[in-house]
Amino acid sequence: MHPYFDNLSRDGWLEEARSRFGLTLAQARRIFREVHGRGAPDWDAVEAPAWQIARVRAAYDLAPLPAVAESRPAEDGTIKYLLRLEDDRTVEAVYIPDDTRATLCISSQVGCAMACDFCFTGKMGLIRHLTPAEIVGQFKRVRREVEGIPGIPPLTNIVFMGMGEPLHNLDHVLAALSILTDDFGVGFPARRITVSTSGLLPAMQRLLAETTVRLALSLNGPNPEKRLAVMPVEKAWPIRDVLAWIREWSATRGNHHTVMFEYVMLGGLNDAAADADDLIRLLEGVPGRVNLIPFNAHPGSPYLRPDDAAVLAFHARLRAAGMHVFIRKSRGRDVLAACGQLHQENRRRARGESIFPLRQT
Ligand code: SAH
Ligand code: SF4
Repeated sequence: MHPYFDNLSRDGWLEEARSRFGLTLAQARRIFREVHGRGAPDWDAVEAPAWQIARVRAAYDLAPLPAVAESRPAEDGTIKYLLRLEDDRTVEAVYIPDDTRATLCISSQVGCAMACDFCFTGKMGLIRHLTPAEIVGQFKRVRREVEGIPGIPPLTNIVFMGMGEPLHNLDHVLAALSILTDDFGVGFPARRITVSTSGLLPAMQRLLAETTVRLALSLNGPNPEKRLAVMPVEKAWPIRDVLAWIREWSATRGNHHTVMFEYVMLGGLNDAAADADDLIRLLEGVPGRVNLIPFNAHPGSPYLRPDDAAVLAFHARLRAAGMHVFIRKSRGRDVLAACGQLHQENRRRARGESIFPLRQT
């Protein structure tokens, strides 16, 4: 067993190729493209001179793609994949098609340390970080799975909105992004990748300095007090500081660099007119679009999905204040598509419990 080639970032590989294997830049790029661009499954399938492959394979193995433990299509075309990693841990990735595009939602960790009270993944705690190979592997696996299904759109967007806090695993996420976005790697446009965070400010600053991916920030509270009630991260990185930095950063960039704000609506907790007014004040002067996400209820959670009327009224109030605001359609609800849910459900079933406890009542 050698370390996995797929865990090397683009720059990490180019440096090794030069200093350790004596390859030129063009030779190094070719091997990178064979593995990540063309998706060679093993070294024998890599088309490059034998002496080059011999040197590299003596030091590195190619990582296997995560296996599909379970896939579940929903009526709206969403397909939820539960992917099994080599240590038998599982993570989820969700394929979400639209008319012409398709978004892949991927995970960055098994579990999450941020402990947001409404989140299923948060209840697991952090089990471990995913490696760069496992992050990119989700993309490669799902791309391969959906390619085999006739008539559905290919992947056009990637969002880090599955399990885990990507900015708590920043080095691995950056390495994965370098593989996904490099022209000689997967070649996926950085502007079509969105990294969602609960607001880890220093990591956010580094991500935006080193990449051109889009950022999504999970607000979930209309003011610091209500945010703290559901997101402990508010204590470490107060939302006002995070937003102040985003305001300055946006001012130095063009409009196209604006951030997306996510606001999970929790029935009776943050969905009233007064909350909308607080949110308007909180975001004053900070450019970006707001996505309202009605809470996806899950077994055992005390939180409630807001009434449709409350969501519409909230949306209208923000819009009247001139905000760029959208209600996120809840996709794949019939397969429990929200953050971390398939995973939990799978464990529940492993324990012999019902998989649809809510539906039986
Ligand atoms: N850890 C990152 C990314 C993963 S969570 C983050 O928190 O941003 C992705 C989004 O799903 C976040 O906006 C989060 O607030 C939201 N989310 C988590 N659980 C949810 C639920 N049960 N219903 C609706 N949205 C949820
Ligand atoms: Fe982690 Fe995001 Fe869930 Fe919070 S919402 S616990 S940061 S995955």
